[in-house]
Amino acid sequence: ATPTALMVGTGRGAQLGILIKGPEVLETTRTVDTIVLDKTGTVTTGRMALTAVHTVDGVSEAEALRLAGALEHASEHPIAAAIAAAAAERVGELPGVEGFENIPGHGVQGVVDGHAVVAGREALLADWAQHLPPVLAEAKAAAEAAGRTAVAVGWDGAARAVLVVADTVKPTSAEAIRELRALGLRPVLLTGDNRTVAEAVAAEVGIEPADVIAEVLPEDKVETVRRLQAEGRSVAMVGDGVNDAAALAQADLGLAMGTGTDAAIEAGDLTLVRGDLRSAADAIRLSRRTLATIK
Ligand code: ADP
Ligand code: MG
Repeated sequence: ATPTALMVGTGRGAQLGILIKGPEVLETTRTVDTIVLDKTGTVTTGRMALTAVHTVDGVSEAEALRLAGALEHASEHPIAAAIAAAAAERVGELPGVEGFENIPGHGVQGVVDGHAVVAGREALLADWAQHLPPVLAEAKAAAEAAGRTAVAVGWDGAARAVLVVADTVKPTSAEAIRELRALGLRPVLLTGDNRTVAEAVAAEVGIEPADVIAEVLPEDKVETVRRLQAEGRSVAMVGDGVNDAAALAQADLGLAMGTGTDAAIEAGDLTLVRGDLRSAADAIRLSRRTLATIK
């Protein structure tokens, strides 16, 4: 009877848009008490749009967009896609890049039109002794307080622009988090983005600042899951990115967004086909109900 009930549960999951790797996954689903949520692409749509360009005196928006856009064109990050698309739209064809380098969780660098260009976190530019002048530091702070991501851009040895990209919280995320709490789970927001942005998003969806883990490098997401497990928690992790794959595999239960990368889907135990976080609550309810039937 047990395997049959689990098979039925698995079939019911498919109807709910939840693909379950094996019937045994439902057992683990029942026991989780903490749910770690990746921010970009999981709680938010991950479809970023460029909303503002700030430059220092003497630098035009077009110049900043041309150099940053050319560089980001070579990257697959959602932030990069937004910048490259806006740049192509506003300044036309973008120049090529030489010596392109992607620094995961930090940004990108390369040579465009003979200029050594770097774009990404403030700390990445600081590695090149490029510090944001007050006008750019203020623009960055204001953008982040509003939950937006500020990308610092430097070339020829100095920070010269800040590009603001905005992502939007999925309309279903706040409700999903309420449902997860009602099921007794503690939601935790995990992101590589900075703390101010992460807390603004957390406030929007109802996650406590104490449960926000920000500025986590891609390779350290898995460590965060391990640490929570070491504290005695049974951890579910929901993610969509290549960055999330190791953490999804480490979690007691890995839930991949069906709208995400193949790496995440392969690493997960469950796939939420519609990319809707409410399906995570559906999955937990389903497993509890299925296992109650067996008892
Ligand atoms: P998340 O965990 O939210 O998916 P990532 O770990 O991919 O974020 O990136 C962390 C941060 O590094 C981003 O918020 C951004 O500030 C910076 N970053 C990463 N890649 C890029 C890029 N291609 N261009 C600009 N900034 C980037
Ligand atoms: Mg993500």
